[in-house]
Amino acid sequence: NFVPPVRNNGGNTGNMISSRVSGKCDDSLEDSTRKCLDMLCGPDGELPEKLRNLEPRLIEHVSNEIMDKDPNVRWDDIAGLEHAKKCVTEMVIWPLLRPDIFRGCRSPGRGLLLFGPPGTGKTMIGKAIAGEAKATFFYISASSLTSKWIGEGEKLVRALFGVASCRQPAVIFVDEIDSLLSQRKSEGEHESSRRLKTQFLIEMEGFDSGNEQILLIGATNRPQELDEAARRRLTKRLYIPLPSSDARTWIVRNLLEKDGLFTLSEEDTAAICKLTEGYSGSDMKNLVKDASMGPLREALRQGFEITKLRKEDMRPVTLKDFEDALQEVRPSVSLTELGIYEEWNRQFGSLS
Ligand code: ADP
Repeated sequence: NFVPPVRNNGGNTGNMISSRVSGKCDDSLEDSTRKCLDMLCGPDGELPEKLRNLEPRLIEHVSNEIMDKDPNVRWDDIAGLEHAKKCVTEMVIWPLLRPDIFRGCRSPGRGLLLFGPPGTGKTMIGKAIAGEAKATFFYISASSLTSKWIGEGEKLVRALFGVASCRQPAVIFVDEIDSLLSQRKSEGEHESSRRLKTQFLIEMEGFDSGNEQILLIGATNRPQELDEAARRRLTKRLYIPLPSSDARTWIVRNLLEKDGLFTLSEEDTAAICKLTEGYSGSDMKNLVKDASMGPLREALRQGFEITKLRKEDMRPVTLKDFEDALQEVRPSVSLTELGIYEEWNRQFGSLS
């Protein structure tokens, strides 16, 4: 019994879906997959061209796991980083909001690199961009492409860019982009990761030359590992440094205030700020968490039972709690590392 292969526009066969076999009419698809494809279908009930030759389960994975419908971060949630916020607003947010003005000479770069120590707010900036520009946010860790999706990374990358182009304006945030676009020599490179890298660069090239409203943001703690091709495509490169003392104070105040726990005096806050030189934003968050446990631990030591403890039974968070927490939470970035970032920034960073 000869069964003719399913015909599709690109001429491909196999387990790809075709224009005819859209999510609506292919009974072999799981309900969740079909629902997801339906949401991407145009008014005519057909899947957009770009998605037709992609595997439905990968489209579903991108839509459910990588696409973040509500990134929920605003500029005001990010402490400091005024320079980065200003550059990003002009380079990214305005063009996404007013594509008609940002054409020709004013057309923006489509690739932005955020580099600097871990835990300094790079991911937060990516989410805030999407939030402020009312764009769909896609988050993927490049190391998961090379580890979790071995052999399938290329296809996932195609699905990612395909879904993003149906959800414009879109921001694709690639964390640890160095593990995808590193300059490590090809001898040690697996064939599959070389193909993945090529596919990624092709996709970037594709939307760079078109009129698509897609921005790619790469984030890395190891900018020195990026190769020349990656630098060329990520035209704007912003250094995201450790938080200034004002930014550290802001993080402490903001996190405690959110929970109604901020009662520190000016002097104590200034003392904490001085003691936390070299701490990243994420170190500060961990520090505040640990310090805020101080009153709870003390109440339990005094004999209160955890099940009966009331909020009023706990004293306010004090400088001493922070001093104790400082013994537990150490800064995660070394001075040597900072030197590397600063040097790379001087050489390749966008300074204005
Ligand atoms: P990165 O992407 O640079 O590694 P993230 O943006 O994921 O760091 O930050 C991790 C966490 O640290 C955030 O969720 C936030 O709680 C805190 N944090 C880091 N930088 C800042 C900042 N500038 N302002 C406020 N919170 C910050």
